[in-house]
Amino acid sequence: MTASISETFYEILSVGPDADTQQIKKAYRKKILQTHPDKTSGSANNNEDTSSSTVSLIKEAYDTLSDPTLREQYDQDLTKAAQTQGYNLSGDGLDTYSLESFEYDDSNEAWLKTCPRCQAPCSIKLIEEDLEQGTDDGEGGLELLVQCGSCSLWIKVKYMEEGDEEEVEGR
Ligand SMILES: [Zn+2]
Repeated sequence: MTASISETFYEILSVGPDADTQQIKKAYRKKILQTHPDKTSGSANNNEDTSSSTVSLIKEAYDTLSDPTLREQYDQDLTKAAQTQGYNLSGDGLDTYSLESFEYDDSNEAWLKTCPRCQAPCSIKLIEEDLEQGTDDGEGGLELLVQCGSCSLWIKVKYMEEGDEEEVEGR
């Protein structure tokens, strides 16, 4: 089995990396219905080849993710694939997350996130100093790239400049 990091089975089924078996089953049924030839017949369908390969991909994704053993193996493959393939650092094509999707950890004064790819808990970490390195995202906010400490996945984080810097320390 080869794991593609450009379109993971999670992405194919449109489920989160922490989706449980019930959610995966539901997502699978929905996807299959959407791509079922009966649903699209009538309209001239030029995408027959595409849709049949999509269906087999959806099935493969479901078969893998609904089986705990296969899923574990797949997750490991994904991690490896992410490590070998790497990412360019321009940020192009990276998944973008808002800082709100991070959890703030008071004791470490850090924003933590479970990696969407390898699912290592809190493996993506941002501290105040990191946020000061952000660059203008051209939309009035800031953005920066951060790497998962576990599988080396890069993601892009967008956030607004906080006005509450006086909180940092009353010097
Ligand atoms: Zn990771």
